Amino acid sequence: MIKFLDLKGVNDRFRNDISEAMMRVSDSGWYLLGNEVASFEREYASFIGTKHCVGCGNGLEAVTLILRAWKELGLLKEGDEVIVPANTYIASILAISGNGLTPVLVEPDPDTFQIDSKNIEKAITEATKAVMIVHLYGRCAFTREIGEIVRSHNLLLIEDNAQAHGCRFEGRLTGSLGHAAAHSFYPGKNLGALGDAGAVTTDDERLAAMVRTLANYGSSRKYVFDYQGINSRLDELQAAILRVKLPHLDSDNRRRMEIARMYCAGINHPDISLPHIPEEMTSNVWHIFPILTHRRDELQAYLADKEIQTLIHYPIPPHKQKCYREWNSLSLPITAAIHSHELSLPVSPVMTDEEVAHVISAINAFPLIRR
Ligand SMILES: *Cc1c(COP(=O)(O)O)cnc(C)c1O
Repeated sequence: MIKFLDLKGVNDRFRNDISEAMMRVSDSGWYLLGNEVASFEREYASFIGTKHCVGCGNGLEAVTLILRAWKELGLLKEGDEVIVPANTYIASILAISGNGLTPVLVEPDPDTFQIDSKNIEKAITEATKAVMIVHLYGRCAFTREIGEIVRSHNLLLIEDNAQAHGCRFEGRLTGSLGHAAAHSFYPGKNLGALGDAGAVTTDDERLAAMVRTLANYGSSRKYVFDYQGINSRLDELQAAILRVKLPHLDSDNRRRMEIARMYCAGINHPDISLPHIPEEMTSNVWHIFPILTHRRDELQAYLADKEIQTLIHYPIPPHKQKCYREWNSLSLPITAAIHSHELSLPVSPVMTDEEVAHVISAINAFPLIRR
């Protein structure tokens, strides 16, 4: 059986170091907001290339805290419009609407799956105050055009970097390209904890301090509360585990790139279209390897029969969800097509060349429909 993602296999490689880290935390007698979190924040900020990193509970709270902090700092207010790709994971959008801001959904470029700068420009109104880009499937969504649009319209740029730790744009890391970035360390992400964890990165000292305060009940001094905050902590145990795994992230991502290259070179089937390998190899860290096919359900069942597990990212687009009923009749054809044709092949740093070859030959042998 080729699992979509063998998480136990991923973490087994670091078994001794993870056990040591867990016991170090247990033995320290200090479990929240201590040395491990402070050290991880330093190490992750230095990896991403930002001045600040603030740990928090998970990725959704990281995005939510950034927008909330901008509201408290007077840079955003209720009703302001935030442009966001229509084909993202729901969390990106929940953070916007949850803050009383208005998500404005825009279509992606069908070749890259990433938000299309031309559509960003068309969506800008007087009420637009921010653009959220999502490095979906591990591919960099930032472009020079987006940088230029944001600068010329004086907009805030937030990156949802939940799926793209270690991804690069012209040598800089995603998570350092906008005014602030949200990271999730959900176990299945490229850098994954053994539970929930997240972080905010930014060069903006005031923003970092506000996020830290809001994540700590709105308090920056014990028992003094300046804001109605939340409790969103990265705990010591997860921070210690992330510190073990961070130094291996780049090599894990390189293995994902190798697998993507093997898939692109090996898969050849008239009913399947493959994702494009970007010119700048490191601008895609392949959190997901998405293929498109009109015969998705059939192919998924066929591969399951060959002991190959696949997933769909994602079966229902946000604008067709019940929780956003008001958008159900919006016409977003590119987004809709991606959601009805996308299938994710297994890709992980612990897949062997033999497993990759097995996936390739199984797909190439997928019977054609006889007409
Ligand atoms: C996983 C993910 C999140 C949310 O992260 P959690 O840690 O699960 O809250 C946000 N945005 C995107 C694009 C994600 O893939």
